[in-house]
Amino acid sequence: MKVLVIGSGGREHVLAQKCSHSKLVDEVFVIPGNDAMSKVATIVSEIQESDHELIKDFVVEHEIEWVIIGPEQPLIDGLTDALEQTNAKVFGPNKAAAQLEGSKEFAKKIMEKYNIPTAEYQTITNKDEAAEYVEQCKIPIVLKKDGLAAGKGVIVALTRDEAREGIETLYETQNEKVVFEEFLDGEEYSVMTFVNNEFAVPFDCIAQDHKRAFDGDQGPNTGGMGAYCPVPHISEEVLQETNQKIAQPIADALVSEGINYFGLIYIGAILTENGPKVIEFNARFGDPEAQVLLTRLDSDFVELLEKVYKKEPITLEWKDESVVGVVLASKGYPGTYKKGYVVEGLEELDQYFVSALKKNDNGQFENNGGRVMIAIGTGDHIESAQKNAYEQVSKIKSDILFYRNDIGHKALKAQK
Ligand code: AMP
Repeated sequence: MKVLVIGSGGREHVLAQKCSHSKLVDEVFVIPGNDAMSKVATIVSEIQESDHELIKDFVVEHEIEWVIIGPEQPLIDGLTDALEQTNAKVFGPNKAAAQLEGSKEFAKKIMEKYNIPTAEYQTITNKDEAAEYVEQCKIPIVLKKDGLAAGKGVIVALTRDEAREGIETLYETQNEKVVFEEFLDGEEYSVMTFVNNEFAVPFDCIAQDHKRAFDGDQGPNTGGMGAYCPVPHISEEVLQETNQKIAQPIADALVSEGINYFGLIYIGAILTENGPKVIEFNARFGDPEAQVLLTRLDSDFVELLEKVYKKEPITLEWKDESVVGVVLASKGYPGTYKKGYVVEGLEELDQYFVSALKKNDNGQFENNGGRVMIAIGTGDHIESAQKNAYEQVSKIKSDILFYRNDIGHKALKAQK
């Protein structure tokens, strides 16, 4: 069969690679992809992920059997709905269901209605009211702008001054929808769950992401500077509790609301004193979590999708190894950075996935975005996987990239 992956980042690179390894698949296409993916797929760079009509024509013309949508924007824009008129099966929720990620308020309301544990919250749509609120609310407080904000719409205010500043940042006009949320203290983790309406299969291996830009979890929040799996210090019992109190209930809640969900739900959770609580849902795989989890996944990915589609029981098979992924990003990210600088040494690496590299006229790769690539290391345990990942990183020659030196540190600390 033929499979089409939508997106252009590292997450889509690993999805395309997994599909290319599937025994069910003859050919993999990626729209729009990037120049570094051509070893695993045919890149269709002339179509953009926002060109729903052109994607639909492509799917029909090439008799695509599965479309896998990687990023959130096309889901929220209704690409799945547009492809309903084709014969392809689409992995990724429709527009109504993608609200779970697209609107913080929608997600909070549904959790409240169905008793899914999450932080206390209130939505304030007026800047003056928000200013009054932060003078008397409990500190720390978390401010979240409603709608997609590419990881930049969340401010964790540790002091009242930071909360005041947060209001200035998030209320670009007098009336904006901002969710004010109780600060949750505890270990952060995420669980990917395959969902086909009430049929929910949470992954029994989880990954941990490193959100801050610099070593020691310092600096601004980013899309993610690295990830590793499995996570030895999040116990089997915590995962069971997450599944019982969050994964299955959210799938059931969506069904009760008359929403048809087929795809993946990313549960971002914090393990508090009172058990796991949700900090966010995403309607797709996390990036960079997908790159480490799918590297460790031994099962045939497309076979899994077929089973989820038919609601057949599935078991996820995992390689007996740990995986560490270190993101190399353009200096200045998540703020401003320069593009068009040569990045060399890719061919020396055993495993990597690319988010933003472009070939120049001389056939060399140049950086073309914030997060540029992820180098993958594997090993018997996190320590050896980490060592291997940094050996891979050292093979990259570039003046424009930076990376964190401590990806996996929480697992290593927990082991000691
Ligand atoms: P989000 O974009 O919702 O994942 O938020 C970005 C980051 O803000 C998360 O990865 C957490 O580290 C932090 N965060 C979000 N909500 C909360 C909360 N209620 N309590 C503490 N930290 C939070």
